[in-house]
Amino acid sequence: MTTDGVPQRTGNNLDPWYANYAERTAGLAASEVRALFAVASRPEVVSLAGGMPFVSALSHDLISSSMEKVIREQGATALQYGSGQGIPQLREQTLEVMSLEGIHGTVDNVVTATGSQQALDLVTKLFIDPGDVILAESPSYVGALGIFRSYQANVAHVATDENGLIPEALRQTIAALRAQGRRIKFLYTIPNFHNPAGVTLSAERRPEILEICRSNEILVLEDNPYGLLHFDEPAPNALRSLDPEGVIYLGTFSKTLAPGFRVGWALAPHAIREKLILAAESAILSPSSFSQMVVSEYLATADWRAQIDTFRGVYRERKEAMIEALGEHLPQLDWTNPNGGFYVWVTMPDVLDSKQMLPRAVKELVAYTPGTAFFADGRGRHAMRLSFCYPTPEAIRLGVRRLATVVNGELDLLDTFAGTGTLQLPESSGYDTAPSDLK
Ligand code: PMP
Repeated sequence: MTTDGVPQRTGNNLDPWYANYAERTAGLAASEVRALFAVASRPEVVSLAGGMPFVSALSHDLISSSMEKVIREQGATALQYGSGQGIPQLREQTLEVMSLEGIHGTVDNVVTATGSQQALDLVTKLFIDPGDVILAESPSYVGALGIFRSYQANVAHVATDENGLIPEALRQTIAALRAQGRRIKFLYTIPNFHNPAGVTLSAERRPEILEICRSNEILVLEDNPYGLLHFDEPAPNALRSLDPEGVIYLGTFSKTLAPGFRVGWALAPHAIREKLILAAESAILSPSSFSQMVVSEYLATADWRAQIDTFRGVYRERKEAMIEALGEHLPQLDWTNPNGGFYVWVTMPDVLDSKQMLPRAVKELVAYTPGTAFFADGRGRHAMRLSFCYPTPEAIRLGVRRLATVVNGELDLLDTFAGTGTLQLPESSGYDTAPSDLK
């Protein structure tokens, strides 16, 4: 606060309105992922940075005939506003999709949203007052951290290993926060094929994590965009299937069909879903009738399970290409080997800084997401997220080869200057402010 009581703003003095923005906009910084895409989208760059599903593996003819049929047969409804909760037929079909992960919900408790991203935003809006604490994995999804920041939440990261969240770490984090008198509102978790860590919460840990949250009266927000995209064994049953009253489940058609429809959903405990519907109506009146009806038509007429198998095959091949290439070209680094999803999390020696290394990587025509994007507290400098969902296996191999040139070049440089105290790494790239994407 200034002496005249006007809140001070951090921001751009060149913007004549900057003193007028709401305080919560201080959290609206461009993410590293977003920034990256500006450079990484050039065709000569192999981008291992974004999380774009490979929608070319989908029959576009099939989609266009679904669209055509919806307009021809139900155009007046499809082009009209709809219910804030979403159309009943699609909510019914959503239950069938969730039953593949052991969830048995009711149509009444499904709230359709404009992507699961919007559902995440609405849930945060419902529960978070400035200063409240959200527990999240370490690392966590960059798009969720952005939402949490915009509602002025504090994120407490909970340690995670190759089996997901560590129950003892969760217990200790809760106890430490409670001892400081902090208000913990929910645990945000991505149990399957984590973005960005690539790990899956083991079946053994699931009931324990739920019990810890239940006994501490902490709601669980389970975000599961990748659960059906397993490479070998299916993921264990969803957390929601084990505790329907303590878990809000978020699902999406973005990865099993296509993100362009922007159709996702929340399955909420009955007590919460009414507030969620009201919040959705106030935000957008209703989700797109047209999108929902096309997705519904697709689910009713296409072999959507076979399509998911096709996606799984594509992503499995790409993951294998990435893991093989890492083993061949960067054996000195550590990485996770996911059983599904889109991402590998790479950890480098402490002397390397993935954010500072990025300009050199882009110069070598390869892009990745620096690890700092996935922490609310500045950690992650020695890590990076590599995504294998979009580039072909050949491009992935080329990208990892280029990355190895950069990493080895940095290590050689550090070796050369070791002990002399003369090496100054360049300042951060400034890419943080370029426009682009947020997957
Ligand atoms: N959660 C996670 C973990 C994600 O990775 C994404 C997209 N990359 C989303 C939510 C949002 O997906 P959508 O809005 O397309 O459903």
